[in-house]
Amino acid sequence: MTGTAGELLAAVVAVGSERRFARLTLEDDPFAPRLGGHEEEALSYAFVAGQTAADETANAYGRDPEAVAAALGLAVNRDSLEAKAGSSVRLSEYGDRPPEIVLHMDSLDAAQETIQAHGLESLLGFSDPQPAQVAHEIYHHLETKHLTAGTAGFRLPVLDLGPLHLRRTFPSLSEIAADRFAIALLGLRVPPRAIHFLVVYQHNPAYAWQLLDRLRSLPE
Ligand SMILES: [Zn+2]
Repeated sequence: MTGTAGELLAAVVAVGSERRFARLTLEDDPFAPRLGGHEEEALSYAFVAGQTAADETANAYGRDPEAVAAALGLAVNRDSLEAKAGSSVRLSEYGDRPPEIVLHMDSLDAAQETIQAHGLESLLGFSDPQPAQVAHEIYHHLETKHLTAGTAGFRLPVLDLGPLHLRRTFPSLSEIAADRFAIALLGLRVPPRAIHFLVVYQHNPAYAWQLLDRLRSLPE
């Protein structure tokens, strides 16, 4: 399939349930095959972690992501690094030394221009993608600094070597929880990851449509 950015996003919103986005994130996790049969358990764990953190945050600091970040002593900085093409485009990042959120304005501005140019605001419920990204990154801060229970408690035995039991956590669960956090805090209709499709589209439209096919093929 091909089409305009507007047609792509309309399709993403139509098929992109939170669970499908979460499964897409899980599929990209190199450790996910080790979940073997425990995927539903892992998804539920991540959703609860994100929802709990959002409820705690809204009660303590309200729902404005920039105000929440300020209350947490978390800087929100902006740069204009170019987004990379492929599935790993970054609109924002969290770093904890010192704690800061970096918003990559080239990508975010381009996404906002596309939203406005194609009249996608009514579909998404917003035209500025920044609050959703800030909210997503706030979750990473809360988890990193142990300010919420987070996803680290989810573990599965992955190797049984007699007396030595190795366990592993799954980084993708943090991503899924961070998107739930943003959805719950801001009342979003789609996970922040939906915006990634627009940025991927700007770099490589064919790849963005392939990604949509993958999303659509996943179970609800
Ligand atoms: Zn993230």
